[in-house]
Amino acid sequence: MPRLRVYELAKKLNMPTKELLQELEELGLDVKNHMSYIDEETVSLILEIFEEEETSVRAKMGKPKKEKEKEEEEELSQEVFVNPEEMQLNTFAVKIGVPLNKIIQDMFSKGVALKPMQQLDEKLAKEIARMYGYRLKFQQQSFQTGQEELTENELEKLERYFETLYTVHRNELVIRPPVVTVMGHVDHGKTTLLDKIRKTRIAEQEIGGITQSIGAYQVTHNGKKITFIDTPGHELFTEMRAKGVQATDIVVLVVAADDGVMPQTIEAYNHAKTANVPVIVAINKIDKPNANVELTKRQLVDKLNLVPEDWGGDTIVVPISARTGVGIDELLEMILLLSEMKEIKCYPKGPARCVIIESKLDRALGPVANVIVKDGILRIGDYLVSGPAYCKVRTLIDDKGRSIKSAEPSQPVMIVGFEEVPDIRYMVYAVQDLETARIVTQQLKERLDRDRAAKRKVRLEELLKMMEESDKKELNIVLKTDTFGSLSAVQNAINSIKSEEIEVKVVHSSVGTINNSDVMLASASNGIIIGFRVKVDPQARKAAENEGVQIKTYEIIYDLLDNLKLALEGMLKPQVVEELIGRGEIKKVFEIKKVGKIAGVQLLDGFVDKNCVVKIYRNGNFVSNDEIESLKHYKQDVDRVDAPQECGIKLKTNLEIKEGDELEFYQKVQIQRKL
Ligand code: GDP
Repeated sequence: MPRLRVYELAKKLNMPTKELLQELEELGLDVKNHMSYIDEETVSLILEIFEEEETSVRAKMGKPKKEKEKEEEEELSQEVFVNPEEMQLNTFAVKIGVPLNKIIQDMFSKGVALKPMQQLDEKLAKEIARMYGYRLKFQQQSFQTGQEELTENELEKLERYFETLYTVHRNELVIRPPVVTVMGHVDHGKTTLLDKIRKTRIAEQEIGGITQSIGAYQVTHNGKKITFIDTPGHELFTEMRAKGVQATDIVVLVVAADDGVMPQTIEAYNHAKTANVPVIVAINKIDKPNANVELTKRQLVDKLNLVPEDWGGDTIVVPISARTGVGIDELLEMILLLSEMKEIKCYPKGPARCVIIESKLDRALGPVANVIVKDGILRIGDYLVSGPAYCKVRTLIDDKGRSIKSAEPSQPVMIVGFEEVPDIRYMVYAVQDLETARIVTQQLKERLDRDRAAKRKVRLEELLKMMEESDKKELNIVLKTDTFGSLSAVQNAINSIKSEEIEVKVVHSSVGTINNSDVMLASASNGIIIGFRVKVDPQARKAAENEGVQIKTYEIIYDLLDNLKLALEGMLKPQVVEELIGRGEIKKVFEIKKVGKIAGVQLLDGFVDKNCVVKIYRNGNFVSNDEIESLKHYKQDVDRVDAPQECGIKLKTNLEIKEGDELEFYQKVQIQRKL
């Protein structure tokens, strides 16, 4: 037997690495972590111990535990059905008809201290029930509303129902595949890595490969599944990547070995750290001649405080080449190892609960949500609630574009059947029936509408105040996009366009086709409508014409931003500059009664215009600025006189002009400013 790393030995023994680590510690062996080596002798010894133990345990076991329990239960007479929300001890006591105090006393004498408000788990509840001759049956019914009096907030009740479900069944949670997000600096190879993994792991196994992206895909490595979230390549989608982290169990931080730790590497790591998601570092592009793995590791330590395992720290670092495929097997291995150590679990038996990674209005399918199932099994025909949107699941499409009947925990799947595009900020919950789905969503919708109306009122007051501050201009925008991801991305991009004089305000934003109510909103706020990858409802187009509302749609984010900048520049106050148009010299000063001083001027070059600014110089020194009250050519009032003619000028204010003063004539010109 050669020497082995702890995790390799665990694999051999078919046991979790974490458990083996504990066992080794109990045996008094000094092992640091899963990567530590165990020498040959110890390996053989451990193999002997464990194999022996297993045979003896099997011999001793006799009847399997499950059967024994079953027999015991059958001796009991009365069945009681309980729902997960009836598992708080006081509620439970009422349910089985035994006084709360009696239960607490009886259990105390058995050495178990209980509190009245305590949540029971299944095992404890069964034990209590058995004490009083009941057989407990759990109702695996989903959340239902409408039978009893409705509470103020049914969505909260629904969320609580799921939380309780997981507390009650905490002993039945099982391991699920890890969900991984690849993050890192632009051009460090995220897309290449995701493509490589997808191509080599799926295309070879499945005929036809992938037909449609659903925002994530699943691969199998050594018989175990891993789900990868497809990070959108565009750098504007920081927001979405942040969301990706929330749906994620593990982050693979890609750092190019020829470029090292860069600003977005740090940003991505901070996202992961904030969300408390463990990180594996993949040092990429090691095939390049200028790759420097050691230097990159040093930067990981210096800039991120991540110490690689082989330097004595606890950060898993895997050198890879996304292009050639070198190291990818080990990366997948390490992802599985980390996920085993972190015990990523789910409750697979209850109703489905999913996290949305993308939602949009599909031209052919209507509103769709790409989700990853977190708990339970999602099935066709399920009734779902996601914030104010509800759904009867019509079709489920997997990452290979196939129509499937059900999806398991950690599986990515596209849900078709939503009544409206769900918001990625909400979780998706399966409920008992259509009625429940309608009630919960309707209630939330009404509440959101009320909140919005209240906010709108405030906004109007703000607006009035702003209008009083005269110089400030603003551009109001109603923003519509195809997905929630792009919505926040575009919004962020718009917010990044700044100008001191003009405030850009997104007065309303949502996902979907531009409709009548968008036009009304834009009209009311004197704003424009910007659409990103969406269509315009024909009715809305007509309304916009009537209301004089401008609608602009874009397919490319840069076009949108460029155009918006132009529009803003158009709103900027033009800059006014003075341009020299002519020069002259005062030959004589005439004093005329009741009129004042008139300068007889010889024009030297250019011309003089009645509306120009006059700068006066004496002996080469500036005296003052002035304007022209009257301009005469011979006795006639004129607007302009060209050099080399003479003219009579009466200035508006300067009364101290003298013979020999030099005059410069300037005209004000407006120049359009840029942002
Ligand atoms: P992203 O912006 O992080 O998604 O980076 P990409 O996956 O688009 O990769 C950026 C560039 O680096 C592309 O030209 C890739 O072909 C190249 N690239 C990615 N991985 C490797 C690698 O392992 N080796 C080499 N030599 N080039 C790579």
